[in-house]
Amino acid sequence: MTGQASDSTTGQASDSTTGHATDSTTGAVTVRVPAKVNVQLAVGAARPDGFHDLANVFLAVSLYDEVTATPAAGTKVTCEGPDADQVPLDRTNLAARAAGILAERAGLTPDVHLHIAKNIPVAGGMAGGSADGAAALVACDALWGLDTPMAELLDICAELGSDVPFSLVGGAALGTGRGEILTPVPAGAFHWVFAVADGGLSTPAVFREFDRLAAGHEIPAPQASPALLAALASGDPDALAPTLVNDLQPAALSLRPQLASVLAAGTAAGALAALVSGSGPTTAFLARDRAAAAGVAAVLDASGLCRATRVASSPAPGATLL
Ligand code: ATP
Repeated sequence: MTGQASDSTTGQASDSTTGHATDSTTGAVTVRVPAKVNVQLAVGAARPDGFHDLANVFLAVSLYDEVTATPAAGTKVTCEGPDADQVPLDRTNLAARAAGILAERAGLTPDVHLHIAKNIPVAGGMAGGSADGAAALVACDALWGLDTPMAELLDICAELGSDVPFSLVGGAALGTGRGEILTPVPAGAFHWVFAVADGGLSTPAVFREFDRLAAGHEIPAPQASPALLAALASGDPDALAPTLVNDLQPAALSLRPQLASVLAAGTAAGALAALVSGSGPTTAFLARDRAAAAGVAAVLDASGLCRATRVASSPAPGATLL
């Protein structure tokens, strides 16, 4: 890579033009990437292509995976973390797919070892796989010195999946289309608790259940809620709480009825609002402040109704080189 200046104290080399950082001894690049919660998930009727039009207000939260890219012969994926055994390590892993698409566009072979330090629940409705796809893209772009324009990175993200563009940009955004057309929206700071369930829910299965429950009903075109967007911008949790809405929640509860007890327990513990995160089964609880969030998490931990809890804040930055 050209334009590098070595930092002998940290062993890091930074590219003066891009700000990209690599470890000069191993050539490793690490990218941190956030999970998301949908504060509004409005779902339209199934389209002829099987996708659903969405009005999807994404919020990135401070619950992160880290993806480290290192030069290797061929593509290799490894994963560590509590859910690591549920993560595919073959070419279906979104991190490997991201590296493959980027390499193909650049006329390279995807010779990279991608190591995922996984903290985002797997198949939990928090876009963990999408996050790793976005992180791998940014990591490989830096590792290979490509400096790909943001618009092209976003294009590759949309090819990888509906939630991947948001994982790249983070913050808060309205997603339209099937969720991949993003408009940033202003957001104040909020505090959250996430209750991680045992086992995941398949997003396509939750959408199928949505279609089954919707059969015979008129489904309005999805629209962003002005009240929710105003509350999000205000940073006032009491204003945001009554506006939170997830049209996939009835479908997730239908497939996993025990989630209703988790939602009720969090509300009884003082959460201002409780909802299923995306397609679930992770549940999200809005708290008044950091201390209130810790209190809700302690009650949920003691309840035995969930596998684990995580306290987080929003908004969080998108995929970031460390
Ligand atoms: P979303 O909220 O975007 O619908 P999710 O959080 O419910 O997604 P993911 O954690 O992204 O779900 O995992 C969904 C499936 O994707 C997993 O069951 C797994 O088979 C596959 N997958 C591919 N790559 C990854 C990855 N890097 N991490 C986790 N799962 C992955």
